Amino acid sequence: CAKKQGRNNIKFYTTAMNQATLERLRIETALRNALEREQFVLHYQPQVDLASGRIVGVEALLRWQHPELGMVAPQRFIALAEDTGLIVPIGAWVMREACTQVQRWHAAGLDTLRLAVNLSARQFNEPNLVALIAEVLQETGLPPACLELELTESLFMHDVALAVSQLHDMKALGVQLSIDDFGTGYSSFAYLRTFPIDVLKIDRSFVGDVARDADDAAIVVSIIALAHNLKLRVVAEGVETAEQLDYLRQHGCDEAQGYYFSHPLPAHEVEVLLRSAIHDTGALA
Ligand code: C2E
Ligand code: MG
Ligand code: MG
Ligand code: MG
Repeated sequence: CAKKQGRNNIKFYTTAMNQATLERLRIETALRNALEREQFVLHYQPQVDLASGRIVGVEALLRWQHPELGMVAPQRFIALAEDTGLIVPIGAWVMREACTQVQRWHAAGLDTLRLAVNLSARQFNEPNLVALIAEVLQETGLPPACLELELTESLFMHDVALAVSQLHDMKALGVQLSIDDFGTGYSSFAYLRTFPIDVLKIDRSFVGDVARDADDAAIVVSIIALAHNLKLRVVAEGVETAEQLDYLRQHGCDEAQGYYFSHPLPAHEVEVLLRSAIHDTGALA
């Protein structure tokens, strides 16, 4: 009986593996087709300046509009896109699409709006990345200072010398660099000194309980102080409640984004928000 069960287990295991491999292959093929079939879309999440209450930027967030699965979130395909290298052409599409959209908003009078674009480690390690960014900025006419590239701490774990030179090449274009999900990855004070960073984004896992949990509050206040002492801007992610917002504002956080202000939205819906913000404050009119 034991033997039989063992055999069955192995058979089951093999079948499950084949299924996983097949599933992966299916998604990979589908991802490959998705670019050609224009199934990717960008949503944009407003970033709010806490002193003025104005929308000062948007973060571009990728979605896959799958004909059968509907709107697929990046968690379900970004890792696979990285493993297969497909993130490189997909990322190039994101850069071009997002810069084109935000430059269109600039042309319509929203010319102080900043754009944040996420970069994965795989894209970062492409030798052509800096040339691509330069090309897209030139093509679209978006001012480099309005583009912010979001990187994660994982980039700094490998070839530090390469990362430093890549980051300096990016800075030479005039763009801004931010550390996404700050505090969750390989955090080292050394890289803050070594890399030409402009912005720290406090990971939302510290923000959720900031108004209730003393440890999370201590971490958030420390990141804000660290950023300011290093002359960096600091942005809180994942703000969902007025309580969290009050805490962040009271402790001098510069900017925030989160469901409290707005979910990531399709371009035409963000545009409505941006326009109503102009009328509310008269600031950009
Ligand atoms: P991220 O860059 O840290 O983006 C923030 C994520 O938090 C987004 O998830 C956003 O929808 C979500 N979020 C925003 N506000 C709130 C909130 O108040 N509460 C909660 N619970 N969540 C909030 P999303 O859009 O699913 O993206 C997940 C991750 O996928 C991103 O994390 C980023 O690492 C990656 N990603 C998205 N777009 C791209 C892209 O174009 N290229 C690359 N390489 N990665 C991308
Ligand atoms: Mg991000
Ligand atoms: Mg983040
Ligand atoms: Mg992230």
